[in-house]
Amino acid sequence: MKHRARKRFGQNFLRDPRVIQRIVDTVNPQADQLIVEVGPGRGALTAPLVSSGAELKLLEIDRELAAQLEMQYRDCPQVSVHTGDVLRMDLGEVTGGRSFRLLGNLPYNISTPLIFHVLKWSERIRDMHFMLQHEVVERMAAPPGGKARGKLSVMCQYRCQVQPLFTVPPEAFSPVPKVHSALVRLVPHQQPPVAVDDPAGFAKLVSHAFSMRRKTLRNSLRGLLEADQIERAGVDPGARAETLSMEQFAALAALMK
Ligand code: SAM
Repeated sequence: MKHRARKRFGQNFLRDPRVIQRIVDTVNPQADQLIVEVGPGRGALTAPLVSSGAELKLLEIDRELAAQLEMQYRDCPQVSVHTGDVLRMDLGEVTGGRSFRLLGNLPYNISTPLIFHVLKWSERIRDMHFMLQHEVVERMAAPPGGKARGKLSVMCQYRCQVQPLFTVPPEAFSPVPKVHSALVRLVPHQQPPVAVDDPAGFAKLVSHAFSMRRKTLRNSLRGLLEADQIERAGVDPGARAETLSMEQFAALAALMK
């Protein structure tokens, strides 16, 4: 039976063979690696990954597509399909506590929560390659000072080196999305770029700082830090979150109780 693309699952399937090849060449899968693919869909990226001989875990929410993939790869013991919502999956369990590579042409409707979800396992992830809306990749890589700088930039850059790779036009997908896409590589840091004693507190501070984008830190951090504490960290309480460097966020987090 022909599968119809489901909008609610953010289904825009890759259909341009040159783009598919370019992604796979960039990822360069190897036979001795464990690779987790988020949202394999109709298997555009999966097929060349399987050919590499890598061990593959396929995480797919669409039961119809998951069943098709199970059928297609029933004779490939190195491929397993996990049916369900990746946001509810424990990637540590899926991968049996081993280190792994992660990739996916991500469903745009949940790309940001999905990135925050997978970052929980960054210590065991060798690298990640994601196809995302171009604008999301810009936000992930944004340096301090620009409009694109936000919680996503700070948390991605705290956990990983962010490398935007190349853009992909809408016509490479079916159905054709309204926006341009881009491939990004995230390589988790061996050592975080700044010292943070309490990563959960750091994440809370960053969330608060960006919760009211047009407000100054004095206002957005109210309840977490007083203006004099912000000053003590060497930061202007009248500044806005998007202007702060990673070091400044770390200095503020260090003053939180
Ligand atoms: N990888 C395929 C390709 O490149 O042609 C499909 C990419 S499509 C943009 C996104 C895929 O993610 C779809 O197969 C969709 O069903 C799946 N998906 C959407 N939300 C998901 C979720 N929460 N958990 C797991 N898979 C999901």
